[in-house]
Amino acid sequence: MRIAVLSRNETLYSTKRLKEAGEARGHTVDVIDTLHCYMDITRARPAVRYHGEVLPFYDAVIPRIGASITFYGTAVVRQFEMMGTFCVNESVAISRSRDKLRSLQLLSRKDVGLPRTGFASKPDNVKDLIKNVGGAPLVIKLLEGTQGIGVVLADTNKAAESIIEAFMGLKANILVQEYIREANGADIRCFVVGGKVVAAMKRQASEGEFRSNLHRGGNATLVRLSREERATAVKAARVLGLNVCGVDILQSNNGPVVMEVNSSPGLEGIELATNKDVAGLIFDFIEENAKPNNTRTKGR
Ligand code: ADP
Ligand code: GLU
Repeated sequence: MRIAVLSRNETLYSTKRLKEAGEARGHTVDVIDTLHCYMDITRARPAVRYHGEVLPFYDAVIPRIGASITFYGTAVVRQFEMMGTFCVNESVAISRSRDKLRSLQLLSRKDVGLPRTGFASKPDNVKDLIKNVGGAPLVIKLLEGTQGIGVVLADTNKAAESIIEAFMGLKANILVQEYIREANGADIRCFVVGGKVVAAMKRQASEGEFRSNLHRGGNATLVRLSREERATAVKAARVLGLNVCGVDILQSNNGPVVMEVNSSPGLEGIELATNKDVAGLIFDFIEENAKPNNTRTKGR
């Protein structure tokens, strides 16, 4: 097959591993820089152009769209969908997962475990917003944050009120969320491919830190999932419509709760922690599913 990896940087571990794993299986794998793709939107013959030429037809595209280029990146993926190319994650599913609020709303409707979460725009509702998620300690999150930046733990209702008001004053969109203390600074990254959890790791925050992101100094170890955790991750991926994703789960007293779902999950941490060929498993999925016009949402 002819497969494109949409990635800004061919030297990243994940990009290199995808290229290597695909080529080892006899596929032609091109790494295409998302921001250098441009689109010809024309009657009945949509195309993607790259350095002055029309790109060839790809049997599959593996989008690795960074959070900072979501708008342009999803437009490129959508253009491939319009051409009938099989995209491992579809544009609309990537957009859903990039918006923490939209993701949580869709998950809540389908009865997936979540930390209780509030969202408001006006400071006059702040006291009730705090009460609704069970009061302090609570977590305040910037909607557009990533890698743990913009996630704040407020210890008291007073502190929570001031932080929320400050963010609102800056016109920043924030979520107010129940703090899952019993997670003890750990979360579980479930790597889902084609409706199955193919690898999972536990990330533990460093001493004195509640955020377990590897970028914040967390460390990762192999973990065995419970049936409920596995089912939660699979369901979250299905609700958001993602074929390949990282579902981050906290172990709460009320069972697993989903914190977020990442549509371009990194391969390095998970492959090192689990010793699994996750890149290869993504190609297993592509080999089984990549057929022309096999897109579900067609950009809706
Ligand atoms: P980001 O998208 O920036 O990674 P997350 O929502 O995943 O933000 O939060 C970063 C980290 O903070 C999580 O990995 C988790 O360890 C911790 N955390 C986030 N929300 C909660 C919560 N409600 N209760 C306890 N810990 C949390
Ligand atoms: N396509 C819309 C979205 O992704 C609606 C999805 C839905 O209602 O399930 O947000």
